[in-house]
Amino acid sequence: MRTKEEYMKALSKMKNNIYFNGERIDRLDERQMACINTIGTTYDVVDDPEYKDLIFAKSHLTGEIINRFTHIHQNTEDLHRKQDMTRKICQKVGGCIQRCMGCDGANAVYNVSYEADKSNNGETNYHENFKKWMERFQKEDLIAACAQTDVKGNRIKRPADQEDPDMYVRVVEKKNDGIIVRGCKVHISEASVSDEIIVVPTRALRPEDKDYAVAFAVPGDYEGVKQVVTIHNLREREHFKRGFMPGATDSYIIFDDVFVPWERVFLCGEYQHAGTLALLFALFHRHSYSGCKPAIGDLVVGTAALAAEYNNIHRASHVRSKLAELIMVTELGYAAGYTASDLGKPEVYMPGVGFIPYGPGSYIPNSIYCNVGRCLSGENVFREAEIIVDLSGGIPATFPHERDFVNPELKEQLYKYITRNPKISPENAAQFWRYVGDMYCSATGGVHLFGSYHGGGSPVMESIAITTQYDIDSKKEIVKRISGIKDELNKA
Ligand SMILES: Cc1cc2nc3c(=O)[nH]c(=O)nc-3n(C[C@H](O)[C@H](O)[C@H](O)COP(=O)(O)OP(=O)(O)OC[C@H]3O[C@@H](n4cnc5c(N)ncnc54)[C@H](O)[C@@H]3O)c2cc1C
Repeated sequence: MRTKEEYMKALSKMKNNIYFNGERIDRLDERQMACINTIGTTYDVVDDPEYKDLIFAKSHLTGEIINRFTHIHQNTEDLHRKQDMTRKICQKVGGCIQRCMGCDGANAVYNVSYEADKSNNGETNYHENFKKWMERFQKEDLIAACAQTDVKGNRIKRPADQEDPDMYVRVVEKKNDGIIVRGCKVHISEASVSDEIIVVPTRALRPEDKDYAVAFAVPGDYEGVKQVVTIHNLREREHFKRGFMPGATDSYIIFDDVFVPWERVFLCGEYQHAGTLALLFALFHRHSYSGCKPAIGDLVVGTAALAAEYNNIHRASHVRSKLAELIMVTELGYAAGYTASDLGKPEVYMPGVGFIPYGPGSYIPNSIYCNVGRCLSGENVFREAEIIVDLSGGIPATFPHERDFVNPELKEQLYKYITRNPKISPENAAQFWRYVGDMYCSATGGVHLFGSYHGGGSPVMESIAITTQYDIDSKKEIVKRISGIKDELNKA
């Protein structure tokens, strides 16, 4: 397995295709380091005995021990471990661990490439090609971003109906040795620090949209690929360092007539498989959220409890009910993911058909429980923020800057005037309010709220998945039987 240093060395050798605020920057640019340190934690924990039951998996392709972030789930235990690994490592870095997208994208493509070959009666070789890509992904312990979200142009129009055909990534030419693709994927997390980019469709497609039914993987610095990146760093700390300084990046990825050789193409034209691929990536990703969102919930609960304590209001009854509310959402999100893992099967839900066997036998978490958990957690991020804002009062929003706390003219007075609970040292109180400011009063805090709400698909998409897949009719039948309703009395 690779070390964080080896990962960084590989990044340092990549071509310079990252555009940031008017410059072209190296992958190891100082501004990307907080992000690299965050995702790099997935390499560091390999040597920590506390993580060994979670981080290691046995590859079903090679039999070798690999990092679980590169694994294809083989049973329900794998799904449980992935959820628990995600929660535990997110707790370590204080937020998103950022490596799940590649794992989720790989699990989705692994299944769909198999089904696409099957429906092409073996005329295509997508699955074998993908397995080869996977073997290298596992052996070299690589990081992949998953680029699903297209720019989408006019939201009301489908891909082939857009005035500009490039609003969704598409195949512009098929050649003997590969395809040429054009378009732009947006909001792609950690693509600027990833070795590879997995590209999958955003939505279900019609026959006329077949050029948009394309899945492939290319290196992050591949010829013709430009990344325009936003970097989400917290305000630098000069005197009062945090225990861990996280960071994140998101890219607009422009595919400027990129040649992709066939061995890296995993779907090309099979429009009937595009919707399943889009849904499966979202499903695996929503399962990841059942690990990371509870970890963020752990931080929110801890923050709310400390805010109450440092404000010396922790014995007030309203604090107890707010803490209970935060704990409920956190643990219900986890419980939904746990159930999704436990009910996982090599099956997917097909509209109008129900659950059917799918793929070569790898495990897919239960869709209803992934979606209800993710929807509950995603929609609650603003309520969680509301509770923190409520319990904190205004202090994190207007907290004086660090240098004022080391200025001999002000230091003593500032510490005196921020004291609220005599049992808490003002130095610790200051450190805590700086942390709350990072979480909720910074640009990064705002980005985080958008990501927690929309990442993995907006809540409306989860509502659609839930209501189309849930057996609502059987619930109506229960009520009719109990209440004595006779269907035959109704008009036809
Ligand atoms: C921080 C962050 C990180 C992300 N990371 C990734 C990533 O790594 N990979 C990835 O692929 N994606 C990523 N995403 C994208 C995320 O999945 C999308 O933001 C999400 O799917 C919503 O799509 P959108 O942003 O295009 O919103 P829009 O689709 O523009 O939604 C805006 C509103 O329009 C509504 N709407 C859209 N279409 C229609 C329609 N036809 N009819 C009626 N209403 C409509 C929506 O319901 C919503 O209310 C990330 C997003 C964020 C914010």
